Amino acid sequence: MKLIVLGAPGSGKGTQAKFITQKHQIPQISTGDLLRDAVKRETVLGIKAKEFMNTGNLVPDAIVLDLLKERLMKDDSSKGFILDGYPRNIAQANELVKITDIDLVININVDYGLLVQRITGRRTCKECGAIFHIEFNPPLKEGSCDKCSGELFQRSDDTEETVKKRLNTYENQTKPLIDYYSSQNLLHTLTSEGTIEEMRQKVENLLEKTFQ
Ligand code: ADP
Ligand code: AMP
Repeated sequence: MKLIVLGAPGSGKGTQAKFITQKHQIPQISTGDLLRDAVKRETVLGIKAKEFMNTGNLVPDAIVLDLLKERLMKDDSSKGFILDGYPRNIAQANELVKITDIDLVININVDYGLLVQRITGRRTCKECGAIFHIEFNPPLKEGSCDKCSGELFQRSDDTEETVKKRLNTYENQTKPLIDYYSSQNLLHTLTSEGTIEEMRQKVENLLEKTFQ
């Protein structure tokens, strides 16, 4: 099962990817997570990437491609994977073709207004990466992860100002991938106005239908 989850920032890619990972035992490969890890560890690559991320721009293709290739070489992705946040532009999609085939692209479509609300209310666990929302998916205890009791934090690029720039970057650079994958008959669009659980069911139905 080689999947891509496509969608604007805040559309619920990470949330749904984690459900797929649990149910189908394939890893979620999030280039955003890989980059944030490099930033945290202050690697040469992380130091370069930080400025792009905090201003809502895409990190240069070559940097992200190196990270992705390295991650795909790990054994756990041999049976399949969910790419979350890659590709982000046509050039990246053209690079991806050289590395692997893809079975299905799940495009999550969400209203612009909802996206801002979702991103600014997102809280992430420092320890295990679980994703919460202060209103739509609050933790049982404020500031603490339900799964591992880790501390919840707000991503530095989840501020209203940066979010606008990120949504703009999505419109200009990532959205063209909808036509790109649609023309290859790989794209399936799901509208995400429902709850997280409703969305999980829609994704699961789609996977059952596609991989039965
Ligand atoms: P992405 O990975 O696409 O940026 P996330 O999965 O991190 O998006 O979700 C963004 C925020 O929206 C999170 O705080 C998450 O809890 C919340 N969220 C995700 N899906 C839904 C949904 N269907 N309804 C309401 N909130 C959602
Ligand atoms: P995400 O976690 O997917 O919301 O990504 C956070 C930030 O990481 C983005 O705003 C970009 O700056 C950077 N990023 C993540 N994935 C990519 C990618 N495939 N190409 C370029 N930049 C990326």
